Amino acid sequence: MMRTAARAARTVAVVALSAAAAACNTGPAKPAALGGSAEACRHCRMIVSNPRFAAQIAAPGEDPVFFDDIGCLSTYLHSAAARPAGSVAYVADHRTGEWVPAAVAVFTVVPSLETPMGSHVVAHVTAASRDADPSTPGGRAVPLSALFPPDISEGRR
Ligand SMILES: [Zn+2]
Repeated sequence: MMRTAARAARTVAVVALSAAAAACNTGPAKPAALGGSAEACRHCRMIVSNPRFAAQIAAPGEDPVFFDDIGCLSTYLHSAAARPAGSVAYVADHRTGEWVPAAVAVFTVVPSLETPMGSHVVAHVTAASRDADPSTPGGRAVPLSALFPPDISEGRR
């Protein structure tokens, strides 16, 4: 667990490649695992039942804030007055379930795909991951700016 060497040099590649690797990074706030216990969506209070549609906001020294649907994260971020310093929003890669910083994720609206709260938005770490996901044909790409406030890019490090 003491994998601190060379972490700074790896940061860019880690963000680009996978959220699992990002868990080894001691820079920005790291995503928390969705445990077996029931986590409730901070916005709609529904249980986060499908980790592949989930999102979270991680912040240093704070409990993670989970969401069951990327649409709930979007609404929350637009309505929240302020987020803790150093907070980073993460979304699950729909194909792999791994956490990806929202600022670098690829978002797709898939009308035929039911998400927990009906946003139909899924995320992937890269376009390649999206294209390998059998759920996404028929979807259309959504720019980050259409989903989140401009300061979401704080997570891009
Ligand atoms: Zn929700």
